[in-house]
Amino acid sequence: MPRFDAILFDFDGVLLDSEPIHCACWADVLAPVGAKLEWEDYRARFVGMDDREMLRMIAAEADPPLDWQILWAQFPAKKAGFRQRIQDPPFLPGLPALLERLSGEYKLAVVSSSSRMEIEPPLAARNLRRYFQVLVTGEDVEHHKPAPDPYLLAARLLDARAPLVVEDSPPGIASAHAAGFEVLAVNSAAEMPDRLLTCLSG
Ligand SMILES: [Mg+2]
Repeated sequence: MPRFDAILFDFDGVLLDSEPIHCACWADVLAPVGAKLEWEDYRARFVGMDDREMLRMIAAEADPPLDWQILWAQFPAKKAGFRQRIQDPPFLPGLPALLERLSGEYKLAVVSSSSRMEIEPPLAARNLRRYFQVLVTGEDVEHHKPAPDPYLLAARLLDARAPLVVEDSPPGIASAHAAGFEVLAVNSAAEMPDRLLTCLSG
């Protein structure tokens, strides 16, 4: 019997090398309202965090401090910028073969705090949407990662008893642990396939 009956993938930084794009889109729309965001800071502190939480921190740390609602008001522009840039989605070349192989043996889901609009179109554009029975996105739960809710919902929808979670960020890893699931923590989308196959064969 395989150890796991499902694989629950985080999206950004696990299936898609999209975190640099998210950061650049936020930086573009925050600069005109006086807030600065740099990649090193984003990578170290904000990857995997809910956008509103990130903006509250950026607003509080600005000098002088800013009203975070003014930053949040830029969200539609950030989303539009992301949609523009993600038209050529940075998936790994080996991802279709990996998903083809895994989907024969495991139920697969994407579990992300990003909006469905940021996940489903890029997957569909590369004909990868069909590998996932379930997408749990930011709209689907009230409490985001690090709360356990997104991973619990995905497991329930898949009827999975022993899912493996693949994550790249501290809030995501905390969410999966809070749900009581095993986690494979990866540093980047690039190393994910090898790490995952090693984990599954171990
Ligand atoms: Mg991530």
